[in-house]
Amino acid sequence: MIKTDALIIGAGPTGLFTAHQLKIIGLDCEIVDNLDKAGGQCIELYPDKPIYDIPAIPECTGEELTKNLLDQLKPFNINFHLGERVDELKKNESNWEVKTNKGKTFLTPNVIIAGGVGSFEPRRFSPKECEQFEDKSIFYSIKNKKIFEGKTVSIFGGGDSALDWAVELSKNSKVNLIHRRDEFRGAPHTLNEIRKLEKEGKISIKTPCQLDSIEGEKDIKSISIKFDDGKIEKIKTDFVLSFFGLVMKLGPIAEWGLNMSKKTITVNSENFETNKKGIFAVGDICNYPGKLKLILSGFHEVALASVECFKRARPNEKYRFEFTTSSKTIQERLGKK
Ligand SMILES: Cc1cc2nc3c(=O)[nH]c(=O)nc-3n(C[C@H](O)[C@H](O)[C@H](O)COP(=O)(O)OP(=O)(O)OC[C@H]3O[C@@H](n4cnc5c(N)ncnc54)[C@H](O)[C@@H]3O)c2cc1C
Repeated sequence: MIKTDALIIGAGPTGLFTAHQLKIIGLDCEIVDNLDKAGGQCIELYPDKPIYDIPAIPECTGEELTKNLLDQLKPFNINFHLGERVDELKKNESNWEVKTNKGKTFLTPNVIIAGGVGSFEPRRFSPKECEQFEDKSIFYSIKNKKIFEGKTVSIFGGGDSALDWAVELSKNSKVNLIHRRDEFRGAPHTLNEIRKLEKEGKISIKTPCQLDSIEGEKDIKSISIKFDDGKIEKIKTDFVLSFFGLVMKLGPIAEWGLNMSKKTITVNSENFETNKKGIFAVGDICNYPGKLKLILSGFHEVALASVECFKRARPNEKYRFEFTTSSKTIQERLGKK
């Protein structure tokens, strides 16, 4: 069990700045996000688009903002638990016990939900038997490409992720690229590369078709794909990768007994606490009179929530308001002294 002063659910811009605010006032924290990278909507939905309303940054992309927030956290060595969804939250005396879908448990007096519009989850295959192979022979994202070396990999999808991985993995694996339409949606230069690799026999393209069934017991042996004209083809394969995009699911957060309205959590705007003591909601996921779903609103909300977290984590200490420009303690925490 991991003990911490505060657990942050969500590594979007709000969750990242929460960690900063907690650390400068002297609290420990851990961050969990279902995505395999930090940045939330900024990194997943608009990494290349410019944002013009971050105070004192005239223009930056979603990716640049995420990088800057991560750079600001560097002095603190924060533990990130990426690729894990927080599923359960229950009371344990004066603390909260929080469990992830990968079996990790946290014990903490403060849970800060910075869950945005919910966890980003991959769109999964519909045949039921796919579940048993997930994270063994079926993957919806790639953490270690070495496991595919010398194997046959069947990649489903028609966008940039599917095409980029088809090109990359074709260097060391036999690749089938399978899409439900004849046209692909990737960048033109990647499409040219794919056609070249097809001619060289390094990639085999199958369209328009979809996954029909999977054969195998512990590991996948083969898959059957169904073409639009009803024809079925059986393909021997070791791994299946799917890049059908992401869906956002509020998921387990809705089951935690928190007061909610229109898929957002109602908070007290003095400290961003929910109807349960020690559970806070900040950023896009919270609602209060006048709430604006903007990044700058999330930054303000976490500063106030962090002060309340301090009172719960250090009940015998007095919280002292200090400026970063003049506080020696904060500057020491930042490694500046
Ligand atoms: C196209 C577009 C353009 C935008 N432009 C602007 C702009 O110009 N200026 C501006 O201020 N705002 C803009 N926004 C809005 C801005 O992106 C959001 O206000 C901001 O991302 C909210 O941050 P957040 O950290 O609260 O939530 P998010 O960014 O949504 O991050 C939440 C994170 O929580 C994770 N999560 C949720 N539930 C769980 C769980 N149970 N377990 C683990 N992880 C979980 C999710 O996977 C996600 O990574 C834009 C949004 C979009 C879509």
